[in-house]
Amino acid sequence: MAFAAATGVMPLDMPESILVRFKGKRQPGVTLRDLVHAIPYYAIQKGLLTVEKSGKKNAFSGRVLEIEGLEDLTVEQAFELSDASAERSAAGCTITLSEDSVSEYLKSNITLLKWMIANGYGDKRTIERRILAMEEWLADPSLMRADADAEYAEVIEIDLEQLKEPVLCAPNDPDDARLLSEVAGQSIDEVFIGSCMTNIGHFRAAGKLLEKQPAGSLKTKLWLAPPTKMDQHQLTEEGYYGIYGRAGARMEMPGCSLCMGNQARVAAKSTVVSTSTRNFPNRLGDGADVFLASAELAAVAAVEGRLPSVDEYRRYMGEFDAMAGEIYRYMNFHEIEEYQKAASNVIPVAQEA
Ligand code: SF4
Repeated sequence: MAFAAATGVMPLDMPESILVRFKGKRQPGVTLRDLVHAIPYYAIQKGLLTVEKSGKKNAFSGRVLEIEGLEDLTVEQAFELSDASAERSAAGCTITLSEDSVSEYLKSNITLLKWMIANGYGDKRTIERRILAMEEWLADPSLMRADADAEYAEVIEIDLEQLKEPVLCAPNDPDDARLLSEVAGQSIDEVFIGSCMTNIGHFRAAGKLLEKQPAGSLKTKLWLAPPTKMDQHQLTEEGYYGIYGRAGARMEMPGCSLCMGNQARVAAKSTVVSTSTRNFPNRLGDGADVFLASAELAAVAAVEGRLPSVDEYRRYMGEFDAMAGEIYRYMNFHEIEEYQKAASNVIPVAQEA
């Protein structure tokens, strides 16, 4: 700080970057979570990552993970990819998104922030300043892009046309990425769907699957914890909490829940499928073996009591795909009447002092 104060500049060493470039079209049944796991899977194939602890190699460690080729993701979806950069030990993560995606997210957030002011959340002036900054960006949108001649420490290309089945992380290491066909048939005791890697669409997908099961017929103990109270509220309004209850799922408070490891816990030595970020030993339960997977695959495992074969999984996913428009709607607060109404009374936004 003294150096910066005296010279007026603060030199910072920027870490090198690793570029992950997705190309081609995502194949049916391959979810965004599978792309999260595809990054370590392809890095292992390229010799940039090893699973063994002794002499471990991790080319991501301390570097910035830059992701390209998925511009049309919503910002909510992009969080799923960037959240997992911590599991790679990366210093940070960037994802190239379209201006439309970012604009939609900011419009939604402005409405949510106004709703928060209307509902007495503090600090009002701080929230108003954030709204103002977002409105200024929306008036003249521009996004940072990598230089055309940028140099990278490594480049990992992932051809989506070649990735035809889910990728999971095997117990108990988020680097141990494997194709579903390598682990299919594994019996499962408990399933957790929750954490900051999930969004409301995942819970609708689980609900659509559970709706078809006879009450109390689940072959596993299923834990569900939507990431936010707003998701919980919306899912309740849409009738999903009734479906979860009838199916015998155990509902946890919205938030980190089992992912945190210090709240509810799975049974000791159980075998688990989880949508949480990481499966380090003993995190979800003492001596538990935890597979990380997409919410869709986790829901199938909850019903079947085992990891399905690729064909079984595809049959289930065909049903999800047919309902995709209904299931995968995100929380766009500027399009939800309840939030619009509250937000419409919160004008004008305070100007900066
Ligand atoms: S503990 Fe909470 S914030 Fe941390 S990874 Fe898990 S869900 Fe995300």
